[in-house]
Parts: sequence; structure tokens; C-alpha cells
Amino acid sequence: MAIDFTLEPELEELRCRIRAFIDAEVKPVEADIEREKLDETDRKAYVGALVGMRKKAFAAGLWLPHMPEEWGGMGLGHVELAMVQAEAAKSYYGPWVLNCQAPDEGNMHTLLHWGTDEQKEKYLKPLCDGRATSCFAMTEPEVAGSDPTLIQTAGFEDGEEWVLNGHKWFISNAHRAGFAILVCRTEENPDIPQAGNSAFIIDLPHDGWNEVRQIETMHGGTGHSEIRIDDLRVHGDQMLGGRGQGHLLGQYRLGPARLAHCMRWIAQAETALDMMVERSLERYAHGSLLAEKQGIQWMIADSTM
Ligand SMILES: Cc1cc2nc3c(=O)[nH]c(=O)nc-3n(C[C@H](O)[C@H](O)[C@H](O)COP(=O)(O)OP(=O)(O)OC[C@H]3O[C@@H](n4cnc5c(N)ncnc54)[C@H](O)[C@@H]3O)c2cc1C
Repeated sequence: MAIDFTLEPELEELRCRIRAFIDAEVKPVEADIEREKLDETDRKAYVGALVGMRKKAFAAGLWLPHMPEEWGGMGLGHVELAMVQAEAAKSYYGPWVLNCQAPDEGNMHTLLHWGTDEQKEKYLKPLCDGRATSCFAMTEPEVAGSDPTLIQTAGFEDGEEWVLNGHKWFISNAHRAGFAILVCRTEENPDIPQAGNSAFIIDLPHDGWNEVRQIETMHGGTGHSEIRIDDLRVHGDQMLGGRGQGHLLGQYRLGPARLAHCMRWIAQAETALDMMVERSLERYAHGSLLAEKQGIQWMIADSTM
């Protein structure tokens, strides 16, 4: 039985709006940056161009697709969001322009569901307004990131404060984040292994939060940091969710965040595929266009699958 991926008419209309916006407003600016027509060292022009795209997205009602309307968002569900990400990420800046980029998108979702009113006002609102950046610090070099019950970064209570020590890596956006959501071990003998962690909101920069380096990944050379956490002191009010709820909160966050990541990668893969097809329809060699050669057709078919 085939799965029917046809979208409802109103969703198809939204998809077309996003595609048109990305094509008309984002891709041309991106091309200027790539061709160095827009000089990145001229900060005023560069930042002006980036912020200008965001203002246009806001005015077009294409802002915060993942947030409810009362937080200024589009109030979309998971299927719609997947579709939005798969359109937006056909350009490098697209998700950022719509303010649904990783890791802020997942952090907004987390704060919305787990933050106190004060935490929402202080941390969620600036993210929604596009005035703040954040990071999420869970993965550690010493243990498997796919199993957060192994987390070794640990905290102990000292009066009204917690003292945290540990080691994190691959922390996206950490080098420019205004705050981090940090997951660490706080419970020594939890009823179940998944109840050992808690999450804290850490204002950045912060004593005890030390960036070691940015790690090279397939995504590029920048943006994913290794962090040493040395005697970092944080007030108990900065805990996000309750004691022992860090794992639950992480799962709650990563469910939609992983889906969004996958859709962004699908968008990138589709862009690469489109470029390959376009090239094969333009390039003429040895008596025909590349597109007419059977070996090339096989490769394109394999890539499409
Ligand atoms: C570009 C990038 C950005 C990232 N950003 C962040 C971030 O902002 N914050 C953060 O905390 N982390 C971040 N991470 C880390 C990411 O979440 C971890 O890499 C991920 O959780 C996997 O952990 P690991 O790398 O330790 O691999 P491991 O957990 O050691 O996994 C190793 C291998 O085992 C496989 N495996 C794992 N579990 C199973 C299973 N049950 N069955 C079969 N195979 C399995 C995996 O697929 C993998 O191939 C980022 C990583 C990258 C590459």
C-alpha cells in the first residue's frame, strides 16, 4: 500500500508561499554573499541584509512556524512543520530567516513546555522576537551521546546554588549563545536510570563555562563547540523542569527537533539533486547532453532513491 503524501489544499498553499519567499527574498541575498558581492567584513551591510530578510519574513507572516500564535508564531503541527523545514532549508539562511533554526527552535519548544512564567519571559520571549541565541548542551566526549543515562557532567547542591562540573562537545551555537540549556546528573540513586539528570539554564558568558575549541564536522568548521564546565555555580531557580526530569525534557525536545533536522537535510539533498539534473541538461559532451547518457541517468536515479 502506498503512502499518500498529498497535502491538504491550504498546506499546499503555504508550501508555495514559503517556496516563493525563499526564492524571491532569501536566495538572491545568499547568492550575493557567496559571490562576495556583499562583503562580510562590512558588518553594517552584512547584518543589514540578514536582518532585512527576517523583517520581510515577519511582515509576510512566515515567522516562528513552530510556535503557537500567542507567542507570535504560526501555530503549525508536526506535518506542516516538516514541510516548512523541507522548503526553508533549500537555502542556507532559510530556517534562520523564518526563526526556526537549530538549536533555538528546539530550545523554544522546551522552554514553552517546561519553563516557569519568569523563565519564559526572560529566555523564551527574546528567542521568539529574534533578539537572542541559545544552545543545548547534552552530549559528552567520554560517553555515548545516544544514551543520556550515561551523562557524567554532575551537579551538587551548595545552599541555594548548584555547583556543576563536566565536559560537553558538539554544542551547536555555543560560541555566540546568550544562554545554554545544560543537562547534567543531579540524582545519585534514581528509581530508574532515566531519572538521574536535570536541566539548568545558564546565562552566557558564565564563570566556569569554558570553550575549548570549535569542532570540525561535515556541517563545516564552525559552530559546534567543546566546553569544559569547571565549578560552575548556578542558582536553584535556574533549573528547567524539576529535579530528575532532564532526560524526559531532552526527549521531549529532541522528538520534534530531530524531525526538523531530517527535513532540513532532505531539503539540502533535494537542492543538490536539482543542481545535478540542471547540470546534466546543460552540459553537452561526446555527441549528446549528459542527461541523455544512460550511465548518468543511473546515477541520478540512484541519488533520487
Ligand atoms: C553537527 C552536529 C551538531 C550537534 N549539536 C549538538 C548540540 O547542539 N547539543 C548536543 O548536546 N549534542 C549535539 N550533537 C551531538 C549529537 O547529539 C550526538 O552526536 C548524538 O547524540 C550521537 O552521540 P555520539 O556521537 O556520542 O554517538 P554514539 O552514541 O557513540 O553512537 C555511535 C554509533 O552507534 C550507533 N547507535 C547508537 N545507538 C544505537 C542503537 N540503539 N542501535 C544501533 N546503533 C546505535 C549510532 O548510530 C552511531 O553510529 C551534535 C552532533 C553533530 C554531528
